[in-house]
Amino acid sequence: MPVSDQAFVTLATNDVYCQGALVLGQSLRDHRATRRLVVLVTPQVSNLLRVVLSRVFDEVIEVNLIDSVDYIHLAFLKRPELGVTLTKLHCWTLTRYSKCVFLDADTLVLSNIDELFNRTEFSAAPDPGWPDCFNSGVFVFQPSLETHGLLLQHATDHGSFDGADQGLLNSFFSSWSTADIQKHLPFIYNLSSNTAYTYSPAFQQFGSSAKVVHFLGSMKPWNYKYSPQTGSVLEEGSGPVNQHQTSFLNLWWGIYHRSILPLYENIRHEDEQT
Ligand code: UDP
Ligand code: MN
Repeated sequence: MPVSDQAFVTLATNDVYCQGALVLGQSLRDHRATRRLVVLVTPQVSNLLRVVLSRVFDEVIEVNLIDSVDYIHLAFLKRPELGVTLTKLHCWTLTRYSKCVFLDADTLVLSNIDELFNRTEFSAAPDPGWPDCFNSGVFVFQPSLETHGLLLQHATDHGSFDGADQGLLNSFFSSWSTADIQKHLPFIYNLSSNTAYTYSPAFQQFGSSAKVVHFLGSMKPWNYKYSPQTGSVLEEGSGPVNQHQTSFLNLWWGIYHRSILPLYENIRHEDEQT
C-alpha cells in the first residue's frame, strides 16, 4: 500500500544536478518505492527540466530563498557561502509529510529501502572520512517548521564547520554519534562509491550488499563519458578507483539511457503536436 504522508526527498539547484535527481527518482521507482517522490528545485532550474522531473517525481516543489522567512535573509547576508546548505534545510518545511528520507541528487538506489521509514529523526550513516560524523547525503527526518527555524538560527549563529550542510547538521544533531544506535544507519545505505577504502577486506565482504550508492566528491556520474554501445563509462585519466565504482557508474548511466533520455524525446514530440 502506498503511504501518502511520507516521502523520499531530493534537491536540485540547477539543471546539471537535475540529471542526478532524475536517475535517483527513477531508481526509487524501479525498486518500487511505496512513498511519495519529492524534488525541491530552486528558481535557476529551467522549465524543461521541471517538466522532465514531473514525469518521475510526484511533486516538484520550488523553494525560493528570497521569498522565504526572514531568517534566510539574515543567514544569507552574513554567510553567503551557506547557499546550497540552507537550501537543503528547506526539506524540513515539507510539513504535509510526517516523515521523510532525504537523498542527495548524487545517490543511486540499488534495492527497495522503504524500511528506512521505520527509523526516526535524526538517522544517518557514518561518514567514511570521519566516522563520528554522519554523512548528510542520506538521512531520515521529520518535517517541522520549528526544527527548520532552529536549524537556520544555528546556521546564523554558528555557521558550518565545513561550509556546507554536513557540518551544520552534525553540530546541530551533535548527539548522533553517542545517543542512540538506532539512529546509525548501516553504511550500506550510504556507500560512497569513490572512496579508496583502507579496509578492503570489509569492502570485499560487504560492498556488494550496498543499497544506496553515493557518488560523493567532485567527479559525479554525469562528468564521465559513456558508451551506449559497450554499456560502460570510458576510463581515462583519473578514472574510477575500483571495479565496484565502475559498475555503479555503468548502472547510473544505464538508467539514464534507458529511462531518462526517452523522457526528453517524449516531451519534444508532445510539443511538436501542440
Ligand atoms: N546540490 C545542488 N546543486 C549544487 C550543489 C549541490 O542541487 O550546485 C544538492 C544536490 O542534491 C547534491 C547535494 O546538494 O547532491 C549535496 O551536494 P554534493 O552531492 O555535490 O556534495 P557531496 O556529496 O559531493 O559532498
Ligand atoms: Mn552528495
